[in-house]
Amino acid sequence: MKTEKTCNSCSTSDCSAIKKQHGERDEDFVDRQALYSRMCKIKHKILVLSGKGGVGKSTVAVNLAAALALAGKNVGLLDVDIHGPSIPKLLNISGATLAGNENTLYPVKVNFGIGMISVMSIAFLLKEKNDAVIWRGPRKYGIIKQFLKDVQWDELDYLIVDAPPGTGDEPLAVAQLIDDADGAVIVTTPQEISVQDVRRCVVFCRQINLPVLGVVENMSGFTCPKCGENTGIFGLDGGKIMADEMGVPFLGSIPIDPAVVISGDSGTPMVSANPNSEAAKAFGRIILTLLEPELNLDESTNLLSMGGKK
Ligand code: ADP
Repeated sequence: MKTEKTCNSCSTSDCSAIKKQHGERDEDFVDRQALYSRMCKIKHKILVLSGKGGVGKSTVAVNLAAALALAGKNVGLLDVDIHGPSIPKLLNISGATLAGNENTLYPVKVNFGIGMISVMSIAFLLKEKNDAVIWRGPRKYGIIKQFLKDVQWDELDYLIVDAPPGTGDEPLAVAQLIDDADGAVIVTTPQEISVQDVRRCVVFCRQINLPVLGVVENMSGFTCPKCGENTGIFGLDGGKIMADEMGVPFLGSIPIDPAVVISGDSGTPMVSANPNSEAAKAFGRIILTLLEPELNLDESTNLLSMGGKK
């Protein structure tokens, strides 16, 4: 049986969990060490954020995780969208039984081609679907912290975190608790009402020193399968223009495609269900843009072969 890594048995000298922070209470320090020791085997942590709900944040999170797994990476997917956790549904594992004990939760493993995704969702812990709705602020923070602290991850190349939408207390709790994340991918639609919220999201990231890895414009135009005409149902390029204005990278656009809805409902992400679709190609390109320096030739080729040609 594997022994768990703890801060006491760790020789890393540049970890901020070694020392108590100024003014930190004893119990908060113990909690922080517990959280760090669970997460320190993860090389990269990426938070997927959105200014508002319904823009496709979970769809993007699940497809990014699946594309990375298809490229041969060890991937974790953590669903902390406390009011609408949808990752189990999107991966067809809603009925999964969690293994663990009082203080430890083991992720559910989902196979993807040559890779695998380790999945943990707060949905597995919500006894009643509406539980989270009635929790007040401090209780929500406590639940999010407990949840993050209890999950026992394996060695991972990437952890993709499907964070709660908006710029309120809940995404703030997630960003503060995972304070060594590589950065955030922000999902929007091209519509001005959504883009406005993303501006706030970029400001939110800047205020808490969370790097913005880039903006993804989802639901960006619909190409009629009969006549080929492209219609900007929610507008076009709003996310790209905003990214340029705000000086953050633009990662790419994903078109509206009814197959995205079908793949979500059937629990098979687009990148594996329809690898040759424009939407899957767009996910491949986004991963390549996001991670280019990190990926080796084989991994890039895997992404290219699932349709992600630049
Ligand atoms: P969020 O996590 O932001 O609330 P979801 O990922 O749950 O959003 O997506 C909301 C709805 O939009 C879902 O029904 C999903 O299938 C659909 N959807 C997301 N992206 C697309 C797309 N590119 N084309 C068509 N439908 C999409």
